[in-house]
Amino acid sequence: MADKEFLRVDGSFGEGGGQILRTSISLSTLLGRPVEVTNIRRNRKFPGMMPQHLTAVKACQQICGATVEGAEINSERLAFSPGQIRGGKYTFDVAESKKSAGAATLVLQTIILPLLFAKNESNIIIRGGTHVPWSPPATYLKQVFLPVIGLMGCQTFLKINRWGWYPEGGGEIACRVKPIDRLRARQFSRRGELRKIYGMSVTSNVGGGVGERQMRAAIKQLRANNLEAQLRNSDVAANGKGTIIFLTAEFDNVRAGFSTIGEKGMPAEKVAEAAVTELRNFLGKDVCLDHYLADQLIPYIALCGERVEMNISKITNHLKTNLWVTQKFIPIKYKLTGPLGFPGVLTIEPAPEPEPLPAPPAIESPAVPT
Ligand code: ATP
Repeated sequence: MADKEFLRVDGSFGEGGGQILRTSISLSTLLGRPVEVTNIRRNRKFPGMMPQHLTAVKACQQICGATVEGAEINSERLAFSPGQIRGGKYTFDVAESKKSAGAATLVLQTIILPLLFAKNESNIIIRGGTHVPWSPPATYLKQVFLPVIGLMGCQTFLKINRWGWYPEGGGEIACRVKPIDRLRARQFSRRGELRKIYGMSVTSNVGGGVGERQMRAAIKQLRANNLEAQLRNSDVAANGKGTIIFLTAEFDNVRAGFSTIGEKGMPAEKVAEAAVTELRNFLGKDVCLDHYLADQLIPYIALCGERVEMNISKITNHLKTNLWVTQKFIPIKYKLTGPLGFPGVLTIEPAPEPEPLPAPPAIESPAVPT
């Protein structure tokens, strides 16, 4: 292990999920700071690293030649000592160690940030789940997360090569990341006017006109709320069955995304209704960032070196926990107002430089008797 001191991160803090590990290794890789994460995913039913988390660790290890201890399935401790970040061509597969539909998108999010600061461009392929519960759908990355970090100067291009649903996985995303020198600060206090709403209903191997019904139901429910949207319906190839409805709201200053993944026994109309309700709730509040984007943007905002205000649709434990981890790596000061589960305002700014210690009092040599 390198001789730099390890930063210690307790993975059971707050949300106590996989995000603590991913943010830790992402920032460790970027900043060259060794980190030891313990109690990994302690608050989950099955603690320790699952295939998605392990793939994220191995991906970070590969892009910077890190020395790593504890990178194993179910491991609850990781010591990660990073090297120099190298852009280039990379391929990762979440199912490499064990069959899994773990989110390829979460692996991608872990490595995008350090790869933005590599010397050369990167072309990454990640196989796994692309539209699976409890993670950003690849469509969310493509239509919301990446365009919004684009406002901060990041140039990335994402393509969904194959869709991967739970539990079969087997999807594939490809992403190009161009290097940048710095992140530009951007205020997220006001979203501005709503420009348009668009989206898609996507299905694989379900038949019965489910995709069309999801789309029509969403259009009808949006119209009932005086909202016009451009929606399309596609049936895509995949290893397993799956359905999703995804709605993007584009505003003057930001984007927000709302999706529902269909479940067995959930009628197409209900899938549509759930996503439309989320969108309507967002539109009904005078806020800028949807709550997913808010937690995902924290490290980017902390790195931009200016005071940024974020007006958020809902304060979550993911947000609070990501702030906690990020503050361990980057000297920031933040103020969060608003109760958990409700809208709130978060300001993040660089922490003031510590005051220089006062000069020690001059020590006079004792008078030497002559
Ligand atoms: P776990 O430890 O629970 O298995 P995990 O490793 O999947 O967790 P979490 O710590 O729960 O990760 O973090 C999940 C991330 O996925 C968060 O950043 C959250 O904002 C994001 N996310 C979850 N659902 C959505 C969604 N529908 N749209 C966009 N982002 C989402």
